[in-house]
Amino acid sequence: MMTDERWNAIVNCDAAYDGQFYYGVTTTGIFCRPSCKSRTPLQGHVRLYESAAEAIADRLRPCKRCKPDGMRLPDEEWVAAIREVIEARYPEPLTLPVLAELMHGSPYHMHRTFKRLTGESPASLLNSTRITAAKQLLLASAMPVREVAERVGFPNAAHFATVFQKAEGCSPSAYRQQQ
Ligand SMILES: [Zn+2]
Repeated sequence: MMTDERWNAIVNCDAAYDGQFYYGVTTTGIFCRPSCKSRTPLQGHVRLYESAAEAIADRLRPCKRCKPDGMRLPDEEWVAAIREVIEARYPEPLTLPVLAELMHGSPYHMHRTFKRLTGESPASLLNSTRITAAKQLLLASAMPVREVAERVGFPNAAHFATVFQKAEGCSPSAYRQQQ
């Protein structure tokens, strides 16, 4: 159960509480020790567990950074988790540093591991996921291009147009007219 004492332990990364409880973050599917130096999650997204085994049973994955109970998350599972987060949250202004922070790793390490296992970079998957969603919106709606851009995670419409052109060989409006 969450108490002020436990929440303070999480916020202050207090190692004195390690082993007493673990916390999982529902938005990332990762669980940590209280002392983990990862960014403090929103309290509403936190679930507490008495043991690491309980967190695993709740289908959470051990954090790469604080390795609860010395558990090491296999790279394959980490990459799968990164992929899930990209697919679920691409409409948000996710950047690589934000994604790395969410996934409890450094941007450099995340890029390298992801590319080694999948052959593409997380940035390229994020881009292609956004472009695929944009193409669907362009065809299925009359939504202005600027709004399509925003909906798929490009707050800057000019940047969206550049990325789209590079991926598809035409502008978003030309793509819409051709179909
Ligand atoms: Zn952690």
